Amino acid sequence: EAYISAIEAANEKLNAYIKVTPEKALQMAEASDARLAGGKGGELEGIPLGIKDLFATEGIHTQACSHILDGFKPHYESTVTQNLWDDGAVMLGKLNMDEFAMGSSNETSYYGAVINPWRSAGSNQQLVPGGSSGGSAAAVAAHLCAGATATDTGGSIRQPAAFTGTVGIKPTYGRCSRWGTVAFASSLDQAGPIARDVRDAAILLKSMASVDPKDTTSVDLPVPDYEAVLGQSLKGMKIGIPNEYRVDGMPDEIETLWQQGIAWLKDAGAEIVNISLPHTKYALPAYYIVAPAEASSNLARYDGVRYGLRVDGKDIVDMYEKTRAAGFGKEVKRRIMIGTYVLSAGYYDAYYIKAQKVRTLIKRDFELAFNAGVDAILTPATPSSAFGVADENLASDPVKMYLNDIFTVTVNMAGLPGIAVPAGLDHKGLPLGLQLIGKPFDEETLFKTAHVIE
Ligand code: GLN
Repeated sequence: EAYISAIEAANEKLNAYIKVTPEKALQMAEASDARLAGGKGGELEGIPLGIKDLFATEGIHTQACSHILDGFKPHYESTVTQNLWDDGAVMLGKLNMDEFAMGSSNETSYYGAVINPWRSAGSNQQLVPGGSSGGSAAAVAAHLCAGATATDTGGSIRQPAAFTGTVGIKPTYGRCSRWGTVAFASSLDQAGPIARDVRDAAILLKSMASVDPKDTTSVDLPVPDYEAVLGQSLKGMKIGIPNEYRVDGMPDEIETLWQQGIAWLKDAGAEIVNISLPHTKYALPAYYIVAPAEASSNLARYDGVRYGLRVDGKDIVDMYEKTRAAGFGKEVKRRIMIGTYVLSAGYYDAYYIKAQKVRTLIKRDFELAFNAGVDAILTPATPSSAFGVADENLASDPVKMYLNDIFTVTVNMAGLPGIAVPAGLDHKGLPLGLQLIGKPFDEETLFKTAHVIE
């Protein structure tokens, strides 16, 4: 009830929730109480969560914040959300996001921009919460839920977490089932939590993760008790500092934050080593070929027949065209066009295959570092703090917006786990985050190390 009141009071300003489900929440909370009274509560009993609109929730609004999915209410539940409900969590509603998770500022949503609850010192300017999981990050930061689900294809958990002073982890590709999560780029998409601190993120990920026969890319490995490693010593650990993440034009205060992070980890007993990830500079261009290619294929299913919106036409092709023209936003159309172009005959080898080769090289960079004894890699999470609403204009300068993902996309390209943890404030008093990158399926090391930084 406290969270529902908080949402009522603040959501009009923040636009973090696009659908609130108070009746469902209270009903789930009562069921939770009954289980607890009977002495058999799950690990998340009664914990109120917000759910990114990318996750299918049975009988409840699921539109990936796109007009083309108007009115779509799935008759099934995503595996990740089902895992949370099975552990006793309570759903407060569906959270705003960039349309089909394409964006870094939550401004491509059909439901409008999300406003970051943070403000620069002495300023009233509205700031973006980052994206695409901007609703998740803003809701957690503003206490409109105890934690939230999110997804990360190229940074969409970690960048919004960094912009809002929250913790977000993208687990290893395959750690969480993608079943029932609206697909953006299937070889990159992973679900993960955004939470108020490392401990909450650890508890939530444990519940969200599972092998799932409905997603053959989910991996059959035991899910460790992530919370158990918090507080363990970093003695004997090697932390890699990749030189290539010192990008041109990076503000001094980001470098200072990075050095501060290095000092904290040293103090905690870790050994710091300089490493090289030489293909880093190709990650962003390769990502913006691979992700749109997969998106153009995944989004072919929205044809006015199977889901959501339909705009009638004089014949079926006309109906497809009118539906897709009206249903998709500008950025989604841009991605579909880029994707279709790079997959078309004649360009496939030059762009798509080349990007896939680059992806292998990026993955190999990380493998070499880990094989040389590095346990985790420390980088900044983003090249800046949160920027103003409408400041970075996707329509006129999409590449500038894409540069937000410069530190985060490598992790998705390599399938590795990455966590963003709040590490300080910039000169405007806005949160800044550091990122830790780990070995495949070694989220424990990330939680343990991030816990030292937070
Ligand atoms: N900002 C990136 C993009 O627009 C990443 C999005 C994401 O991780 N879903 O593609």
